[in-house]
Amino acid sequence: MKEFLELRIDYKYAHLLFKEDEGVNLGDDIFGPSVKVVKIDTGSPIFEKVGQVNKSVREKYNNLFFAGWKYIRKYTTKELTDARLFQMDVRKYFEPTGEECGTEYDEHCACEICGSGRKQVSPLRLKKGRFLNKRDVATTIGNEIVVSKRFVEVMKENCVKGMTFGPVYWGKNLAEDCYQLMTKGEVLEISEQTKFGINPYDFSEKEGTEVFKCPQGDNLGLNILSEVYVKENASLFTTDFFISKQTCGMKSGYLNPTHLLFCSPRLYHVIKDNGLKGFDFEVAHVVENID
Ligand SMILES: [Zn+2]
Repeated sequence: MKEFLELRIDYKYAHLLFKEDEGVNLGDDIFGPSVKVVKIDTGSPIFEKVGQVNKSVREKYNNLFFAGWKYIRKYTTKELTDARLFQMDVRKYFEPTGEECGTEYDEHCACEICGSGRKQVSPLRLKKGRFLNKRDVATTIGNEIVVSKRFVEVMKENCVKGMTFGPVYWGKNLAEDCYQLMTKGEVLEISEQTKFGINPYDFSEKEGTEVFKCPQGDNLGLNILSEVYVKENASLFTTDFFISKQTCGMKSGYLNPTHLLFCSPRLYHVIKDNGLKGFDFEVAHVVENID
């Protein structure tokens, strides 16, 4: 696996580490570039240098060196063939959330500290929109995942295990072309090897009054900073779709802690072979359960 980090550098400070023609400068004709987008190899010395410059920009100017970041992991064919499990990410986010459109939740069972664990107690209600738009999956920022009718048909034809689908309503009307993706309840426990933090250079578990790593153990951190490791589980041999037991993210407005999604190699191939669009995949590692 080759791991890269894509960074959106504040152009004012970009010259501290990068040449003018490195990466892609974004901006407009009047004000000039405002952001430099660079892709760095996390195994190269430049990765550490970004950390040092980031620290000095914060100390000297009380500002951020980079605003956005994203890990990009590239796998060899052999690594993809050998994988026992994949982590799935939904690429497209949309608003408003189901919660804003009248979907009901029972918050009594949610953790008082991190907000993880609330239960959806009504069908998903959304504002009618074109959020799927040729994709087969999209999610609200509150983690309500919607899939296309074709997605559901392909899953049924292939007898995919572990998924279930709920109705979606536009107000009082039943949507005919999409469904809510739900789990039958197979969970995988995330193992300690998985790294969490605020960003690739800040492993803080809290910030001010905000606690990202819940002391109760349900929310593990704000963002995932590594590939995901899960504990060995018998259901890995019998099921195709899983969610993580723990969550990551935070409760803030309509944002909610998220369970990670995982799929078997079989489901990975069903999605790829049928050209279903909208998921990104990474290899997830299964480690021995020593408890
Ligand atoms: Zn909690």
